[in-house]
Amino acid sequence: MEKIGDLFKSSDWKKEKHVPVIECPEEVAAGELFQVKVTLGKEIPHPNTTEHHIRWIQLFFMPEGDNFPYQIGHFEFNTHGESVKGANEGPVYAEPKVIADFKIKVSGKFFAMAYCNIHGLWEGSTAITVK
Ligand code: FE
Repeated sequence: MEKIGDLFKSSDWKKEKHVPVIECPEEVAAGELFQVKVTLGKEIPHPNTTEHHIRWIQLFFMPEGDNFPYQIGHFEFNTHGESVKGANEGPVYAEPKVIADFKIKVSGKFFAMAYCNIHGLWEGSTAITVK
């Protein structure tokens, strides 16, 4: 492996709990406000403990015919049961799910990246058409 891209894993999200699943309309109008949801562990829940959890999800949009992707957001999940009482004794557990509202002018592809603190980097993608 020579590039960081080589470290990203992907798979069928129905069988692999680490793959970020992107849900959005198949088709939108140019400039129409719409919602994208990125979920990790949609079919098989990922553990959410102090020892094993998802740290972040990033969402990018790659417009068709463009040379560069646009980062829509970086979402950090910063609490997983940590507490002064000890691991998994805390009151808060952030779930690896993100909902973002925005608009686009051209068709393209969404790419999501996610990081599990012990199972590394994962990716998922989905296309969207501007009619
Ligand atoms: Fe994991």
